[in-house]
Amino acid sequence: MATRRAKTLFCRSFCSRSSNPLRVCVVGSGPAGFYTAEKMLKAHQGAEVDIIDRLPTPYGLVRSGVAPDHPETKVVSNQFSRVAQNARCSFFGNVSLGSSVSLAELREIYHVVVLAYGAESDRLLGIPGEDLAGIHSAREFVWWYNGHPDCQYLFPDLKSSDTAVILGQGNVALDVARILLRPTAELAVTDIASHALAALEESSIRKVYLVGRRGPVQAACTAKELREVLGIKDVDIHIQEADLVKTPADEEEMKNSRIKRRVYELLSKAVMSGPSHNSTGQRELHFVFFRKPDKLLDSDDRSGYVAGVRFEKTILRESAGSGKQVALGTGQFEDLECRLVLKSIGYKSVPVEGLPFDASRGVVPNVGGRVLVDSFGDHKLLEGVYVCGWLKRGPTGIIATNLYCAEETIASISEDLEKGLLAPVRSLPKPGREGLLQLLDDRNVKVIPFRGWEKIDAEERRLGSLKNKPRDKLSTWEELLKVALD
Ligand code: NAP
Repeated sequence: MATRRAKTLFCRSFCSRSSNPLRVCVVGSGPAGFYTAEKMLKAHQGAEVDIIDRLPTPYGLVRSGVAPDHPETKVVSNQFSRVAQNARCSFFGNVSLGSSVSLAELREIYHVVVLAYGAESDRLLGIPGEDLAGIHSAREFVWWYNGHPDCQYLFPDLKSSDTAVILGQGNVALDVARILLRPTAELAVTDIASHALAALEESSIRKVYLVGRRGPVQAACTAKELREVLGIKDVDIHIQEADLVKTPADEEEMKNSRIKRRVYELLSKAVMSGPSHNSTGQRELHFVFFRKPDKLLDSDDRSGYVAGVRFEKTILRESAGSGKQVALGTGQFEDLECRLVLKSIGYKSVPVEGLPFDASRGVVPNVGGRVLVDSFGDHKLLEGVYVCGWLKRGPTGIIATNLYCAEETIASISEDLEKGLLAPVRSLPKPGREGLLQLLDDRNVKVIPFRGWEKIDAEERRLGSLKNKPRDKLSTWEELLKVALD
């Protein structure tokens, strides 16, 4: 019903304009998707842009990835909301590329398809025991505390032991450590999912280990985020002084990177201050370096539940030609007991049918956002298909990185249009929005228009105001669809 209403509404506004506008579909409504839509609307005054997302809610990582105690980073969603309200732009949530509509169909319906659906899976360690219960990817844990409807029922075990081990030392690992250790009174006034806040309030976790396979100079985090985690109230910081000894190769790395210098300085300062520099010693954060995970250990009763991690000590060696120091195992092992392991070793994109994919790099082969049929050979283009964001570059960078990424992709599209490389655009009208909504209607897909998201938004804010929170997120598919379609 709502789908039909939305269709009538959108068709009316569409029919009143040019009979053959450039019709663009952006898949994914995170930062990469919204920046792409914004740039496209600006660069091509006649273009109509539809953004689809598999979730009923827009904004991707801004809603599901950014930590709840970083509200300032989420302000960009106001800008994205204005883009969605542009008369030439539409948002259609609950539309999944692959199951609701295929890439081949989108290519039939639109002149240009930009894939910006990010990285919704995880890199694997590839070591024994990875499938034991009690081990989660950081992505799942982040989705859980951010109220993503796919992880509402994750139930991370925060009760069985006092120790959590986080593998990896990037900014996501730091976010996760902060959420585990920060006083819950401070989290209670954020938009953290209610189920996560309740579990954290009951949590027995007192010690968090952030473990890196390389040294402090190679830690993947940035200074601002490190400073924040080092400053959490009532947390003792533990770092082995011996780990801070630098080699000439480390000095060289630091010489070339201000971020590395700042991170190293902050860690050194934390060592100098000693463990109880800022706390009453209630909780501990351990930075552990030069340890690579070798095996995830089953408990003695073989219950299938993780009981710890076996690490191999490492040393660093320069990898020939890369200028990068890599971790080599030394054959010395040690075990760390815990009942909760969070793997924060990076996100991974997932391909869809008909999309070329470079599985080793986890990206779509592309040149400046133009999708290539394969990474080798003659660089033949998949006509009319482009990429942006993590699917294009891999899972690195902050939100603003997607702005530059979108500019590059839009520049490629504009150039291709100018050169006539998208030949059918001028001659062949495409059904665009009308065609998409018809197809989804035929398949009984319950499309959530932006108006549906606005209802979710209003309800979440209303619920939040009752608890002194900016919003109380609806975290199940049932709740989200009910409110949006009401
Ligand atoms: P990341 O920065 O790439 O960090 C991944 C970490 O996992 C590194 O420490 C890496 O160590 C380690 N790792 C990878 N494979 C491993 C393996 N097999 N065994 C052990 N360790 C392994 O990724 P991320 O933390 O997921 O962050 C993704 C992007 O989002 C980053 O660009 C990050 O800066 C950004 N982000 C920013 C913020 C913020 O600005 N506040 C917040 C969250 C995320 P090696 O270096 O040895 O490979």
